Amino acid sequence: MSSNTLLDRSLKAVWHPCTQMKQHETLPLIPIVRGEGPWLIDADGRRLLDGISSWWVNLFGHCNPRINAALRDQLERLEHVMLAGFTHEPVVELSERLATLTGQRLGHAFYASDGASATEIALKMSVHYWRNLGRPEKSRFVSLSGSYHGETVGALAVTDVAIFRDAYAPLVRAGSLVPTPDSRLAQDGESPADVARRAAAVLEAYLADHHRDTAALIVEPLVQGASGMVMYDPEYLRLARSLCDCYEVHLIADEIAVGCGRTGTFFACEQAGIWPDFICLSKGISGGYLPLSLVLTTDTIYAAFYDDATSRGFLHSHSYTGNPLACRAALATLDIFEQDNVLAANRGLAQRIGDAVREKFGDHPMVRHLRQRGMILAFDVATERPDFARRFFAAGLEHGVLLRPIGNTVYFMPPYVLDDLQVRHLVDGATAALVKALA
Ligand SMILES: *Cc1c(COP(=O)(O)O)cnc(C)c1O
Repeated sequence: MSSNTLLDRSLKAVWHPCTQMKQHETLPLIPIVRGEGPWLIDADGRRLLDGISSWWVNLFGHCNPRINAALRDQLERLEHVMLAGFTHEPVVELSERLATLTGQRLGHAFYASDGASATEIALKMSVHYWRNLGRPEKSRFVSLSGSYHGETVGALAVTDVAIFRDAYAPLVRAGSLVPTPDSRLAQDGESPADVARRAAAVLEAYLADHHRDTAALIVEPLVQGASGMVMYDPEYLRLARSLCDCYEVHLIADEIAVGCGRTGTFFACEQAGIWPDFICLSKGISGGYLPLSLVLTTDTIYAAFYDDATSRGFLHSHSYTGNPLACRAALATLDIFEQDNVLAANRGLAQRIGDAVREKFGDHPMVRHLRQRGMILAFDVATERPDFARRFFAAGLEHGVLLRPIGNTVYFMPPYVLDDLQVRHLVDGATAALVKALA
């Protein structure tokens, strides 16, 4: 089957995500036939370096031999069983190992299949917790401006990205927004920690007024991904934690994008020295192999649901909750973290990527706010071109790199397996793409 025919069939039968389909009249779809480490290989044999980990999910390369082997083994044992009334080794072991990674502070794992569902589970658990405690009025949420927590109707309540939300506003019971601690907002003489303190002061005023009906604050720790890799100081998380304690409001850490080592520590919250009441994980947890998400929470939350009354339990479910194949992929992923000492190795890799990006873009006259947190790098391009992102993406493809700017923000979020030549290829590709996109 020629790739052209495949593209025609795809455009006819597949409604692609996050896409105005009409734009594919001019921008062709790319048929991928194979993956190999950080490379995606298309139907013509062209190799693309996956600089954004296929929407931030891939950690250890495509078709990773170790994850493949674990999945083959699991396939021969058990592909799936419902998790209500049944259990299995992969889901138990994964839950135990994640609990250990939190030092047993968040020792209860509830499973789903995608990130938005994890957000909704955390929101529902928070509200149900307060209801079980006889405080049903605590049912509202607060999030940061520019926040992204998923696109289902419930998750949109705490998502502040207009293009994803506006069309569905009548369906959404919107939460409240408080200012983002975005380090770029620093005024003369202000440090990122000062910006964090200024933003936390507004959060404090909000909670002082509204804590009686507020269930939880939800944040993307350290990096707000979808609104353009907005980075902020860990001081904000420390202050948010103590304000949430003071005002009896849960803190939900949406680590769907920033978890699994992305920012340098396994959980981003570790860099602030705090633990939230809920951690949402998805994306990288299965190594980028299979849909899997989960919410970790504390003994205190868990205990509030443990009762003779069925209705006080958390009755939420998804058909594929705790899927054994996805859990096995996650266990193989955690094995790689341990066996290869990935967090330490990533410190060196992040430094090398940072050096290469700063060398090419640090003095570029149109580059602003070059920033990095672990394996996430970003900069803003001072251009008025409304089609900048699409032009940059298309030009990157011509130079063998997959990079998809968000608006005017170019970012790198590659798998953790790049060697020096691949780092060079990625940064050279971005350099060429920037020239073409601005031409
Ligand atoms: C991707 C993402 C989500 C949503 O996950 P899906 O699997 O796409 O539903 C939620 N929160 C954050 C921070 C994300 O990056």
